[in-house]
Amino acid sequence: MTAPKSAAPQPCIFCVAFTTENARETHTLFRNDLALVMLNRYPYTNGHLMIAPRAHEARLFDSTDDSLRALIGLTAESQRILSDVYHPDGFNVGMNFGQIAGAGVADHYHMHVVPRWSGDSNFMTVTARTRLVPEELDVTFDKLVPHFKNIRKELFQS
Ligand SMILES: [Zn+2]
Repeated sequence: MTAPKSAAPQPCIFCVAFTTENARETHTLFRNDLALVMLNRYPYTNGHLMIAPRAHEARLFDSTDDSLRALIGLTAESQRILSDVYHPDGFNVGMNFGQIAGAGVADHYHMHVVPRWSGDSNFMTVTARTRLVPEELDVTFDKLVPHFKNIRKELFQS
């Protein structure tokens, strides 16, 4: 008897984004040997970004100091760039660890950066569960990617 084949494991979206040759395919705005910044495919608002370390790791305390520094540095740069481009009224910045805590990809940790506008949550309530994001991801990508080309190199120096 042969055991039924289990479904192939889903490829990790972050690991795929690090290795896909054309960064546009995965909407990856920035990547180097430590970390990346990419658009969330299912954005909560326009400009919803995710920052992830290069290493496929589930917990902050598994990471190297260089990875942690890159992660927070890129979070800061993302907030600065989104402020310049989208002029939001506020931000949600945060991380979920484990499925129980709401992590969509539980075994590769990542930071969410979500620009917020006054009234956007009222709008979300009105539209119930519909995530109505007026801007196409390709449009967001084209707006943001030139800014990420000029990211400060000092972010990655120990
Ligand atoms: Zn991964």
